[in-house]
Amino acid sequence: MSPTTSLAIVSVSGGKDSTATALLALDRYGHDRCRFVFADTGNEHELTLEYVQDYLPRRLNISIDTVRADFSADIARKRVYVAEQWPNKGVPAEVVERALSILHPTGIPFLDLCLWKGRFPSRKAQFCTQELKRRPLDKYLLDLLAAGLIVESWQGVRRDESDARRDAAERERAAEGWWIERPIVDWSAQQTVDFVLSRGVQLNPLYSQGHSRVGCYLCINECKDGINNASRRHPHHIDKIREWERLVGMASKRGFSTLLHHADGEGHDAEHAFRHCNIDAMVAWSRTAFGGRQFDLLKFAAPPSCSSTYGLCE
Ligand code: SF4
Repeated sequence: MSPTTSLAIVSVSGGKDSTATALLALDRYGHDRCRFVFADTGNEHELTLEYVQDYLPRRLNISIDTVRADFSADIARKRVYVAEQWPNKGVPAEVVERALSILHPTGIPFLDLCLWKGRFPSRKAQFCTQELKRRPLDKYLLDLLAAGLIVESWQGVRRDESDARRDAAERERAAEGWWIERPIVDWSAQQTVDFVLSRGVQLNPLYSQGHSRVGCYLCINECKDGINNASRRHPHHIDKIREWERLVGMASKRGFSTLLHHADGEGHDAEHAFRHCNIDAMVAWSRTAFGGRQFDLLKFAAPPSCSSTYGLCE
């Protein structure tokens, strides 16, 4: 390919918006001028991995590159810092020893990021998106730019998704030779679903299991119903989060850290927050009604076979 040719780079997440965006990029540029890339956070559901790594490539006749963040150098630097600086800051020897015993890269990007930081991300400190998705994807694009290619980064962003995206432009210039294209910026969620299905392409099966969004499993922003649904359908992911909370807690000075937080948890001390927000407490809370005070017996019933909020199964 000539160095001055522009390439459409579609970031595929396994969600409906990025699938629709991939289809539109193929419509405009064809297979030769499109590339697809998936940022694997290491906290993906196996159905998402299967959808991105197997179903979509077969169905669309494309290949999808995978990028993964690597925090081994950060963890190595953190080990030195903990060993040399924590004792000077009055951190007890057993806490230093505990952190050093766990500060080794696991190769799972999400977990390694949290071990390095000594905490999980939160809504106020949402460093996961930047570290696990944005940086590896930017590096992928920068490598293409360095090879002299003009790139268009195709993003499946919709304005009605959130306030932060309300003013997203349909097209903008990010840098010399680097454009951003957001072809579904004005679409509704339902339009996106209808478009994908109208092309004979299936959506990630997690939607038909009642999840309204697809991303990390679980995401730090998981809603109450999403936690409840995950705990009933995929309890092994709850087990995974429980183990990660134990490991990240060992890497922190406080000795605990939680993936999820109650929206009304502001102002509580850390131990209170841990008792009420660890994954088992959050699963119990997700099965309650009326603001969390009573148990809702319906939440214990077997999940329906299809409870999609987008009408995927007619
Ligand atoms: S899906 Fe959620 S947990 Fe994963 S990177 Fe995005 S905000 Fe963070």
